[in-house]
Amino acid sequence: MSVATTLVQSLRKRLSKPAGYQLFDIRLKYSIALSPSLKRFVFSGSDVGLMRTLGPDQRVKLFFPSANGTPPNLPRHGDWQAARRQASAQCAAPMRTYTIRNLRPETCELDIDFVLHGETGPASRWATHATPGDRLQIVAPNGAYAADPGGYEWQPPEGVRQVLLIGDETALPAIAGILEQLALNPDPPKVQAFIEVPQESDCQPLLCGPKAKIHWLPRASLGKQHGDGMTLAARELASLPLIRTKPGGELEEPDLTTQLLWERASAKQSEFYAWVAGESAAVMTIRRFFINECGLDRKSLTLMGYWKLGRSLE
Ligand SMILES: Cc1cc2nc3c(=O)[nH]c(=O)nc-3n(C[C@H](O)[C@H](O)[C@H](O)COP(=O)(O)OP(=O)(O)OC[C@H]3O[C@@H](n4cnc5c(N)ncnc54)[C@H](O)[C@@H]3O)c2cc1C
Repeated sequence: MSVATTLVQSLRKRLSKPAGYQLFDIRLKYSIALSPSLKRFVFSGSDVGLMRTLGPDQRVKLFFPSANGTPPNLPRHGDWQAARRQASAQCAAPMRTYTIRNLRPETCELDIDFVLHGETGPASRWATHATPGDRLQIVAPNGAYAADPGGYEWQPPEGVRQVLLIGDETALPAIAGILEQLALNPDPPKVQAFIEVPQESDCQPLLCGPKAKIHWLPRASLGKQHGDGMTLAARELASLPLIRTKPGGELEEPDLTTQLLWERASAKQSEFYAWVAGESAAVMTIRRFFINECGLDRKSLTLMGYWKLGRSLE
């Protein structure tokens, strides 16, 4: 076989290899109000049967109607990123990140829980007015791809005995999934979950194991601002591990005006694991407290700024 034939064959093989993530078409089947601030959207369509999810905090990219109201229509096969870059501001489909709450490929159903925060952004605007039959597009893990495509951060280290979850309402879908997964563990670690929500009536029953304690922090009844409940949880309410590394002085910080705060725990083995997600400034405050003040080992901390107060996030 000539070198040229081998090259062509390997190129063909590469081109026909399924991608880890793929663009899919989805259609809103129905929605369920979970609480005043959270709504579950159940999407369907034959494409849903082709997706997969790898963890309870599996993230996906959703595409919403453009500024001129047209539903997203990126090329299903081909370079959707280039097509999106070439579209004018009026026609481009806004993209936002969400969490797969449940995926049922066998019945082609996908649940995504949206925070309703008013008509301030394309995602929340769509969620406020959505009706069954609405078409969206999504980039999600491809079921035909056998390897791990990533896109999820809940990866507790081996030997974990104490889990700390802190999040606001945007992280509630992931935290609910994490608690459900832990409830199936025959020998689960101790779990403390602190969830900041807008109001008392947003607190909802979550499935969890006997070793999990859920603490709701409704901003309205506590008289708190965005993120204050999360930082209160970290500073005053959570029991933190006694074994600490030496406080390592001031850590370098990402500049939140240009960067995301996104750090994944890297410890292979650890008794303690914290997963923190929500408004970026609150997560940054918690990072400073945990690492600079408490001397917690950053290798056992996953810290994610999911959104930024006062800023639109693509
Ligand atoms: C990995 C990951 C997973 C996520 N999972 C979910 C999820 O499952 N469900 C979910 O609802 N969100 C989730 N989010 C957060 C979501 O992507 C943001 O809230 C996003 O900004 C919403 O887009 P938008 O178009 O409504 O508003 P944008 O156009 O992004 O912002 C418009 C304005 O609204 C404000 N804003 C944005 N989000 C909120 C909010 N929640 N409350 C109050 N004000 C807000 C912004 O500060 C800005 O001023 C996730 C984010 C990440 C990174």
